[in-house]
Amino acid sequence: MLVPDIIIAVDGYSSTGKSSFAKLLAKEFSFLYLDSGALYRGVTLFAQENGLIAADNAIDLPGLEKALESLDLHFENVDGKSMLFTGGRNIEKEIRTMKVSSQVSPIAAVGFVRAFVDEKLRGFGRDKRVVMDGRDIGTTVFPDAEIKLFMTASVEVRSQRRFDELQAKGENPDMAEVMKNLQERDYIDSHREVSPLVQAPDAFVLDNSSMTFAEELAWVRGVIQGKFGILE
Ligand code: C5P
Repeated sequence: MLVPDIIIAVDGYSSTGKSSFAKLLAKEFSFLYLDSGALYRGVTLFAQENGLIAADNAIDLPGLEKALESLDLHFENVDGKSMLFTGGRNIEKEIRTMKVSSQVSPIAAVGFVRAFVDEKLRGFGRDKRVVMDGRDIGTTVFPDAEIKLFMTASVEVRSQRRFDELQAKGENPDMAEVMKNLQERDYIDSHREVSPLVQAPDAFVLDNSSMTFAEELAWVRGVIQGKFGILE
């Protein structure tokens, strides 16, 4: 299918399979894939490693704001996979741990952190042909994105997916903790003042609780064909 030069925004709740789906779309249409959550995770790891989050979870806001001025976060292609780097260090694995997941949402609620990430994201979208996944891509980062998808799935299905993912990475997750973390992140993400997680009015909703990737792909092809009148 010949897809025009567009931006596809994929937003939704935690662990709805946004990134797997967005990667699939990027491959299918030869678009660039961008994981906006990785940048929030990268800022969180940086804050943790530099003592900017206290034991009571209080964030050293002036310290973080200053540190962001010189923080390098960028993606590099490693064996065909896009991975997050800071300087020459590949941090892709560290940003996916429960330790980072447990503190990322309060960090992502900070206005200047969002401005730092948004600037990078908008740069990636300049040439279009991008699939970006996150929480506010279709509402704040690219409100004019031509295709907006909003993904959701039951909390049980999402927790199981996240649990399997962590286990596959060699972590020893606790199911109750995984579920609690998803619910907490969804709550903070949906209730923050700056760019909360909300469904854009013009987004197409995909509940993939019991869908295969092939079914999801067929669905999105239908959405794109309907929008642009492409027959094949
Ligand atoms: O997508 P992922 O679950 O890796 O994102 C981690 C966290 O980063 C989310 O729980 C959310 O707090 C934050 N985030 C955000 N806006 C985005 C992407 C992620 O606030 N566009």
